[in-house]
Amino acid sequence: MGGGAVALAMALIVQKYGGTSVGDVDKIQGVAARVARYKKDGHHVAVVVSAMSGETNRLMSLGQQIGGEKPLPRELDVLLSSGEQVTIALLSMALTKLGLTAKSFLGDQIEVRTDSAHGKARIERMDTQKLRDCLELGTVPVVAGFQGVNAHGDITTLGRGGSDTSAVALAAALQADECEICTDVDGVYTADPRIINNARRLGQVTFEEMLELASLGSKVLHPRSVEFAGRYLVPLRVLSTFEDGPGTLITMEMDNMEQAVVSGIAHALDEAKITVSGVPDIPGIASKILGPIGRKNIEVDMILQNTGADGLTDFTFTVKRQDFADALTTLESVATAIDAREVNGDDAIAKVSIVGVGMRSHAGVATRMFDALAAENINIQMISTSEIKISVVVAERYMELAVRALHAEFGLQEDN
Ligand code: ADP
Ligand code: ASP
Ligand code: MG
Repeated sequence: MGGGAVALAMALIVQKYGGTSVGDVDKIQGVAARVARYKKDGHHVAVVVSAMSGETNRLMSLGQQIGGEKPLPRELDVLLSSGEQVTIALLSMALTKLGLTAKSFLGDQIEVRTDSAHGKARIERMDTQKLRDCLELGTVPVVAGFQGVNAHGDITTLGRGGSDTSAVALAAALQADECEICTDVDGVYTADPRIINNARRLGQVTFEEMLELASLGSKVLHPRSVEFAGRYLVPLRVLSTFEDGPGTLITMEMDNMEQAVVSGIAHALDEAKITVSGVPDIPGIASKILGPIGRKNIEVDMILQNTGADGLTDFTFTVKRQDFADALTTLESVATAIDAREVNGDDAIAKVSIVGVGMRSHAGVATRMFDALAAENINIQMISTSEIKISVVVAERYMELAVRALHAEFGLQEDN
């Protein structure tokens, strides 16, 4: 099985249900009924679920009460992965109650093999034999998302929102006809519909754009899930758990109709900015500043360097907010060693990005973006660009205003 589209008489579909979709017992029964409809239509269905909404946060907070800000990574993964264990069992019971046969699987029971990077593990392979056996018998396998097992048999997790990646990886391994990400919105919108109430659902969006949007903060899909779908050509669709509709298809190619200059806007509030100022402008400075940060496994996103007439340079970069304190402490000793004047940090920032493959063929997009922000008196602190995106860092308090202004500037609202 594999290849064709979901319209095939009988297809193999992987469905992933997120936290809100399985948020309480009624919702879990609703999900079971939705799965039953697909089964009744003659499809094979494999299901991946997240923990009930709020559960992963609750578990994280328990871990932090004992383990501090960063609890022991191995034990934290054992703790966090338990949320999904609850939902696979409950959904399997609900499916059985509807007269279907269903069987739950934890990540290690089907050998979702990952590397050992606890908290952000990458899936390397998985053994689909047990799932294929189930599917052949007409049983619905219900798989715990977000978790895997490393070569030593330790439980790992894939990073927050990682169940999307579990689902796409499973769809790739099973060569499913489609992977449905079933969630609390009915597709991918031009901006987060929680912020922009006239945002428009995209009928389709390219892998390339979706990867940028997800990586730049649109949490509707976990970035690695899009990466996987692109690499293994998994037909991927985002749609609502609660109402019928076509959702958004993530495609390799687009109809020309849909090729707007800007397809969507993403925002991220999980970054912080650090500036090392008054540094002697000599070779090797960037490596002296960023080397120790990298050795601490802290990822750096945007980087900016300015040299003044006095031969001194200011070096600014962004890191994830969770790494902010660590990065500042690391830099304090570095600053003395490189004779820097001072180190400043700001974690009240937001990154706002416009994304669109149409930017390749349109000039002046950046100017329009900067003008629209200037018209709202929003100061741009940092800028970074690639072929199909432009990101700016602004003060956190301007995030919504910036997204709104850009959404209007690029005509992304509904009925346009
Ligand atoms: P789930 O628990 O189902 O995985 P998430 O909360 O992870 O759901 O993702 C869905 C949420 O993503 C939506 O409720 C919405 O607020 C948010 N979101 C952010 N950007 C977008 C976007 N461009 N389109 C749709 N939803 C978005
Ligand atoms: N339960 C995990 C989380 O809350 C994984 C997921 O929902 O995708 O991040
Ligand atoms: Mg999610």
